[in-house]
Amino acid sequence: MLVSTVELAWRARRGAELGLAGAAGVGLDWGEVIARKNRIVASWSQGKDQALERQGIAVLRGHATFLAPHELQVGDRTVTTEKIVIATGSSPARPSIEGIEHTVTSEELLDRTALPGRMVAIGGGAIGMELGFAFARAGLYTNVSVRRITGDRTVEADIGGTTHRLSADVVVVATGRPPNTEGLRLDLAGVRLERGTVSVNEYLQSPTAPHVYAAGDVTGRHQHTPAAWYEGRVAAENALKGNHEAVDFNVFPTTIFTIPAVAQVGLTEAEARKRGLRVGVGRSPFEDNTAASVREETEGLVKVIYDEASGQLLGVHILGPNAEDLIHIAAVAMRGGLRRRDLAGMHYVFPTLAGTVFDAMWE
Ligand SMILES: Cc1cc2nc3c(=O)[nH]c(=O)nc-3n(C[C@H](O)[C@H](O)[C@H](O)COP(=O)(O)OP(=O)(O)OC[C@H]3O[C@@H](n4cnc5c(N)ncnc54)[C@H](O)[C@@H]3O)c2cc1C
Repeated sequence: MLVSTVELAWRARRGAELGLAGAAGVGLDWGEVIARKNRIVASWSQGKDQALERQGIAVLRGHATFLAPHELQVGDRTVTTEKIVIATGSSPARPSIEGIEHTVTSEELLDRTALPGRMVAIGGGAIGMELGFAFARAGLYTNVSVRRITGDRTVEADIGGTTHRLSADVVVVATGRPPNTEGLRLDLAGVRLERGTVSVNEYLQSPTAPHVYAAGDVTGRHQHTPAAWYEGRVAAENALKGNHEAVDFNVFPTTIFTIPAVAQVGLTEAEARKRGLRVGVGRSPFEDNTAASVREETEGLVKVIYDEASGQLLGVHILGPNAEDLIHIAAVAMRGGLRRRDLAGMHYVFPTLAGTVFDAMWE
């Protein structure tokens, strides 16, 4: 949400290249950007509450703790239940860097209504990269590799093998999100943890406490919203109806919302070769795409990895404009068992960004 607003402002400022007059003065009202984000999030969660009520599902609000295998304390109530699904999510890690107390988490940063003058981001994972790109486009300085932070938020950072001292107004830490299991007293339910995550089988069921299921970030498998939704449904249905659906993440598209975004589905070329597969590789750059040229967004490419003999699609990777949407063409094709030639032969609308996905199938 924030990335799209920041990107819009950044593109608008470059509007003169597209013939827009007065676009150079477009600014960001950060207080309103954050207020709008909060309004949208609040309306989503209100909609979810109403949907639960319509289904006749009772909601108890409060911190839950196991008292016994089938008994939980929720706030001041004790609840006895046959089956339990743990979906407690994850929280930001606090790495042991000297001065870590001078940092903020990604969630705290995204609640601040004023843009910091200079920001340093610690962590080069999806969240660190997204924050880095968004705030850099908003006009701030960012960095991703930090050794030490002092009280005045001077950061000692490793850049290109040498140590630099950077002065920042905000240092945000984005070094991963361990699952929320502390305080749940999972030992009282007999639930086993594996490296801090709730261990589950393919039915999302705890092997050591079969009446307990888990879904989402707490399983430590995929830290993505659609994975949490999907696992939540599978875990709840398996808990209520018996184990009848195993989770299937074979074709699972993901995106990192950098600018431009990076999206992928299936194997990378290195992963496919490591499996001993004979792979073919197709590539098509966005600079050859007319729609991308018209939009002045020609950075990036589509890369396709396929089985050389059968043409079966093994993986597709997109860096470029609308990568987060275009990747679904590949995901649908892979899920439907389409081969490279099936896509290469597709008719498509001109000029569209989708053309680059189909063109990459030709090489
Ligand atoms: C900054 C940021 C950006 C992200 N961007 C994306 C994105 O662009 N796309 C994407 O797919 N994913 C994104 N994610 C990841 C996504 O938000 C998570 O994967 C998803 O929310 C996980 O859902 P969940 O239901 O497992 O956990 P959550 O959504 O975290 O929900 C867990 C809930 O359980 C509650 N809880 C915890 N412990 C207890 C307890 N003991 N008792 C009662 N309640 C408890 C928590 O308060 C919380 O309300 C992002 C995450 C962050 C932090």
